[in-house]
Amino acid sequence: MRPVTERDIRASFINCSKGETQRLSMPRDFTQSPWEDLDFLGWRDPGAPERAYLVAERDGSFVGIALRVTSGSSRGFTSRSMCSLCLTMHTSGGVALMTARRTGEAGRQGNSVGQYLCTDLDCSLYVRGKKKAASDGAIDESLSLPEKVARTRANLFAFLAKV
Ligand SMILES: [Zn+2]
Repeated sequence: MRPVTERDIRASFINCSKGETQRLSMPRDFTQSPWEDLDFLGWRDPGAPERAYLVAERDGSFVGIALRVTSGSSRGFTSRSMCSLCLTMHTSGGVALMTARRTGEAGRQGNSVGQYLCTDLDCSLYVRGKKKAASDGAIDESLSLPEKVARTRANLFAFLAKV
């Protein structure tokens, strides 16, 4: 993706109010992000761990969504869960249900959409093998790297479209 500035980030959010957008905490050191390896910039709010954000580039403009992280529903320490964007398998705690309030009238009525995502939101890096899950989370499959990246991006845009 193209590098984003703090202004880009604050202007990109589609599912929160102007006030919330102004208050949210920027990701630490995000200007140093490996942009060429990112399909989206994702981060947990340093001051509020139950909040997470992701900003993606869609058709040349930036789209950001605010997420609520649900940490409960532990299914045991040995269970493994899969991220629905990058399909990385993680052991307990590596994946969390994140819900986004929907935009417009649906959101005002309290509707949200949820997905299981890597808790560190580093999907782009897992897909490219730049970061490894604790349990060597790559699933065994024969797709090439460009195919895996394309699939992750398709999953990402499908999620954004539902918000
Ligand atoms: Zn992921």
